[in-house]
Amino acid sequence: MKTIVLDPGHGGRDTGATYRQYREKDFNLEVSLQVRKYLLNDYSANVLMTRTTDKTLTLGERTTFANEKNADFFCSIHHNAAGGRGFESFIYNGSVPESTKRIQDIVHQEIVYTVNRYNVVNRGQKRANFYVLRNTEMDALLLEILFIDNEQDLKLMLNDQFVDDVANATAQGIAKALSLPRKKTPEPPAGKVLYKVIAGSFKEKKNAEERAAFLKEKGIEPYIYSVTIDGSLFYRVQAGAYADKENAEDQERKVEQLGIKDAFIVTEGTSEPSEPPTPEPVKGYTILGPTLIQPENLNLFVKKVNPNAPDLGALYDELSRVYGIRGDVAFAQAVHETNYFRFTGVVEPGQNNYAGIGATGPNENGASFATPKEGVLAHLQHLFAYASTEQPPDEFDIVDPRFSLVNRGSAKSWTQLNGKWAVPGTTYGQQILALYEKMIDFEINQVNEHLDRLEKAKQQI
Ligand SMILES: [Zn+2]
Repeated sequence: MKTIVLDPGHGGRDTGATYRQYREKDFNLEVSLQVRKYLLNDYSANVLMTRTTDKTLTLGERTTFANEKNADFFCSIHHNAAGGRGFESFIYNGSVPESTKRIQDIVHQEIVYTVNRYNVVNRGQKRANFYVLRNTEMDALLLEILFIDNEQDLKLMLNDQFVDDVANATAQGIAKALSLPRKKTPEPPAGKVLYKVIAGSFKEKKNAEERAAFLKEKGIEPYIYSVTIDGSLFYRVQAGAYADKENAEDQERKVEQLGIKDAFIVTEGTSEPSEPPTPEPVKGYTILGPTLIQPENLNLFVKKVNPNAPDLGALYDELSRVYGIRGDVAFAQAVHETNYFRFTGVVEPGQNNYAGIGATGPNENGASFATPKEGVLAHLQHLFAYASTEQPPDEFDIVDPRFSLVNRGSAKSWTQLNGKWAVPGTTYGQQILALYEKMIDFEINQVNEHLDRLEKAKQQI
């Protein structure tokens, strides 16, 4: 079995590049963990990591680790900074074996193919005298995914779907480049559909094997299985199986581009769940619950930072009661999403979209709502979709355009929104709750000052 070492750049005391409140080391770790997940899911490989937590490591410790483990491949994952945007990859600029160049070709192309969908700039395949590339004894590659200090790139880095896609592409590229054996074709999870890309179906096993060999040569990992159709046995050459139809169609196009005209997609599994899905157990501070902070204090809290912020406290307070949602925490989420209603991301203030609904990338600034009230409603309805499996109360029409897309009841607490709502995937809920704690402290302060005033008034009587 091949050994792969993934090296999330920086960590611990070494933040890497920073921009606003964001740190390169966090993005590097997030992507690397996802790459590992995809490799282990789909392939038989020994996947090791130089760090899986926010820990300080020297460059020497990283390369020594890979060398001692006798790894077949080392992949360092970074994000770029300082003037530019887009994706680039590096191999050592000294002498390297042909295999290193080939791996860079394949992994780079695989990533570019995927990130093109997000209009990411391809900065090209480069060579440099980086320590980790020079001091590793195996094929080594360093990826600079995107630029943390470029607003367009950063928006993507904060988009869970992008992170997921780029990590998946990296994993598939590595698997291709190293010819990792694919695990037995996955069974569709109960109630889920699996889309299999079939690059030809043959009566003769020999022909299927020839087709498979051709695909392998082109960097596609094939899998042959037999089916009986109307009493005849066929050998199908599967060129990938996906839970996502779009990914299957992408792969089908790739296969067709190789000149295979008889490719098709078969759907397996059922879209009807065989059993009701089991709801995720609640862990952490729940989304449903009472609103505790006074609406005027919500407004005052925001205005300390942004004196021009709209007064949304009362709307969050009133409307959240209809849905049984903690309106003050929802308000904290809006403060987080809009950067104190300064709208420093892709969403414009006029959209009244306080929760980044549908805002998924630099070219997708999301939903717009006619009034602030409608915007707050949509936000609360979106939360309700996550937090509850109940029918929404019929007091208001559903104005959240994405309500029906939510996996109902899949996040009952704020931290369970991690990786589901817009990002950053791993600390999203924690950041909202940290803001909420500040808001509580603010209100306690206000109350104390009020008590002081009452006490003084009493003494003057
Ligand atoms: Zn770096």
